[in-house]
Amino acid sequence: MKFKYIIIHYAEIALKGHNRRFFEDALKNNIEKALKREGIKFLLKKISGRFVVHLDEEEKDYEKIFNILKNVIGIAHFSYALRSDCKINKIKDTALFLLGEKNFNTFRLSAVRSDKKFPLTSQQVNEVVGEHVCTNLNKKVNLKNFDVEVVIEITAKNAFLYTEKFGCVRGLPVGVSGKVVSLISGGIDSPVSSFYAMKRGCNVVFVHFHSFPYTGIESQEKIKKIVQILNKFQFKSKIYFVPFADLQREIFVNTAGNFEKFRVVLYRRFMLRIAEKICGKENGQALITGDAIGQVASQTLENIMVINEACNIPVLRPLITFDKEEIISKAKEIGTYEISILPHCDTCTRYIPKHPATKANIEIVKKIEENLDVDKMIEDAMSNVEILEI
Ligand code: ATP
Ligand code: MG
Repeated sequence: MKFKYIIIHYAEIALKGHNRRFFEDALKNNIEKALKREGIKFLLKKISGRFVVHLDEEEKDYEKIFNILKNVIGIAHFSYALRSDCKINKIKDTALFLLGEKNFNTFRLSAVRSDKKFPLTSQQVNEVVGEHVCTNLNKKVNLKNFDVEVVIEITAKNAFLYTEKFGCVRGLPVGVSGKVVSLISGGIDSPVSSFYAMKRGCNVVFVHFHSFPYTGIESQEKIKKIVQILNKFQFKSKIYFVPFADLQREIFVNTAGNFEKFRVVLYRRFMLRIAEKICGKENGQALITGDAIGQVASQTLENIMVINEACNIPVLRPLITFDKEEIISKAKEIGTYEISILPHCDTCTRYIPKHPATKANIEIVKKIEENLDVDKMIEDAMSNVEILEI
């Protein structure tokens, strides 16, 4: 069947009171961007609390459109629909036409009126159209156990009818919540935490620390691929590649003997400090990491506290209470998993101690840092940053 219309319903933004308009415009903009980017020709209108996409005559690649819309954050669900005039006889005919090609025995109708001027109530519409379908197609209504449901959305000018709803990501449109800087490592977790930040309406800027040339270039290539995948949710991204090798060397020489177990915590403190600087440059409001309590030695609550102490802006950790399995399954769903598991040499495996501290002590860590020229180390790293837009 040829559908020329798509009805899009949005998630939470319906609840946003005075800001509703702002959220709706942001979502409208994002839907338009997503469809245009793939060359779809259409017209998009907001009609009483929903969006209606009017597809160009030649557009019929519904699967392609499905794959675009399912990733637009903020959409609750959408449907391919037929349009009818707002007259009950026309609605009856359209329902018949819509169901004509379908294989089913039982059905139900669910009319909703967003325009209360329509002369029949929703219930009356259900009854009248239901009877028409029963007589003409010889089918039965069953409100509980039905093979098909026909939704009839009655707006001021038109009615839209459809039988299938496709669920989407939900969340808030990317951009409405401001900007965050996400520390992305190429592992499984940080792409997922970046996705969750986007899902709450954040625009995400990425920062990756690498030890090139001491580790291969693969880690940076991997980050580019992951960010490319995440771009399906936020269109375009900026990545800061920060050289970390000199800084690590400096920490290494200052953490001989008993102090070597604090290296990872020290690396992380410097990562946060540099990310905070980048966040300032970007006018961002918070940092994002992929930490989950207890997942690895550096992520015990004690260590998180010591790491966090180095930074003065909020560090958000969307995965903090997630199990690894939950994170993996989300990574598969959003499409980053296959790339995350490719081998790469992590910065943090450089000069890694055999037994990293699981309970770092803030006093000792600060003492070690007294011997480091913290500001200069950060400045040096910052002055060699490479920025890439994808
Ligand atoms: P991931 O799967 O995200 O790599 P992980 O389980 O390997 O996480 P860690 O290596 O302890 O965990 O890193 C914790 C968090 O610190 C990461 O999720 C990421 O946000 C940040 N991080 C670690 N290494 C880097 C890096 N090289 N560049 C940027 N951020 C990093
Ligand atoms: Mg990692």
